[in-house]
Amino acid sequence: MVELLKMTTATQRKKAIRDAGYNTFLLKSEDVYIDLLTDSGTSAMSDRQWAGMMRGDEAYAGSRNYYNFENAVRKYYGYKYLIPTHQGRGAENILSKVLIKKGDIVPGNMYFTTTRLHQELAGGTFADIIIDEAHDPHSLHPFKGNVDLEKLDKLVKKYGAKKIPYVSIATTVNMAGGQPVSMKNLKDLRSYTRKHRIRIIHDMTRVAENAYFIQQREKGYQNKSIKEIVFEICSLTDGATMSAKKDALVNIGGFMATNEWDVFEEARNLVVVYEGLHTYGGLAGRDMEAIAIGIEESVNDKHQQARVGQVEYLGNKMIDYGIPIVKPIGGHGIFVDAKAFLPHLNQDQYPAQTLAAEIFIESGVRTMERGIVSAGRKPNGDNYYPKLELVRFTIPRRVYTQAHMDVIAEATAEVFRRRNKVRGLKMVYEPKYLRFFQARFEHL
Ligand SMILES: *Cc1c(COP(=O)(O)O)cnc(C)c1O
Repeated sequence: MVELLKMTTATQRKKAIRDAGYNTFLLKSEDVYIDLLTDSGTSAMSDRQWAGMMRGDEAYAGSRNYYNFENAVRKYYGYKYLIPTHQGRGAENILSKVLIKKGDIVPGNMYFTTTRLHQELAGGTFADIIIDEAHDPHSLHPFKGNVDLEKLDKLVKKYGAKKIPYVSIATTVNMAGGQPVSMKNLKDLRSYTRKHRIRIIHDMTRVAENAYFIQQREKGYQNKSIKEIVFEICSLTDGATMSAKKDALVNIGGFMATNEWDVFEEARNLVVVYEGLHTYGGLAGRDMEAIAIGIEESVNDKHQQARVGQVEYLGNKMIDYGIPIVKPIGGHGIFVDAKAFLPHLNQDQYPAQTLAAEIFIESGVRTMERGIVSAGRKPNGDNYYPKLELVRFTIPRRVYTQAHMDVIAEATAEVFRRRNKVRGLKMVYEPKYLRFFQARFEHL
């Protein structure tokens, strides 16, 4: 499928972003030239997936497509029991309700917005146990998604293993810039958690991209396929949540999976309250078929090589222009360091939010903020002040060409040249939950 792109003038873009409260989530897609807001649900489906869409079995219960979905999850990920959900956060809601009790601590390799909120709404407190290097945009550590086992051990000593229902492990770590976890780290974490009888729950939204990095960077994995590596990663964990809108190449869908019958039984009961019957969980039969096929396509070695290769192409162009980005280059996008890009703005002037708006004005390229706005507030109302203040250029899979990447890098370089003249923002409207989606700003 091809789509006409709309070219706009700088005057039109200035008006569009002002009307959107300087929040790229509030822009109309029509006004966007190249859309790098997210890689979620924005990938192009394959001919095989579209053929699968035509074979939707829209029965209320026991759809054929559900069983194909279940088979794909068992075959490629190895988890025993599947709960389909409308997307990742639907799975996080159910999982958090089943496993977290008030007062529990949930350690994780950096927070993710919706994941942490569901943990907090269930009465838990998130604790960051990622290695320090993850918070440093300059560190070249090859596995910045790794867990610091000493940080975890301190929590276990302080609160006791009984207060920790599970460790939450994301592959790759979105908020750190799409950075991978190593197999060795997962194995060490597995032996530690086995000893203390703590589960590992896997946020496997980008597990195939993580597997690609293991294949490229970790000793002993050069000759293993992505398919084998993905399966091994999953085998080191007890259950998972997934947004199929990323790795699995669909426009909508997700799931929760577990190897524990008791957890499955309770989740299967809750899914009918929040999502739909346990054999569709808020999805049409055709959507489940597209996921089943997308899971298979996501573990193709050539696909991941092209996917991550395109992201690296853009990243290296940016580096050539001298633009400060998070290194090593991550799996699903380029993360520009807004603190280094706009050093004259302090964090309360929203440097990343400002930069995303400027890039749109310059070029019609839509990016998004991953800094203080995304971090939101603690349950007591104080702002979180994340070390990383980033603008995310997320690349949809199988959508854009290398020529688009050139335009994106040139536009960013243009803003970089006039960076000293860029003014910050103030927030004029703040929603209570996940404020980055709907907050509004004005120029200072
Ligand atoms: C997108 C995402 C989620 C949430 O999934 P949705 O499908 O957007 O609800 C959870 N974790 C990570 C790492 C994600 O990138």
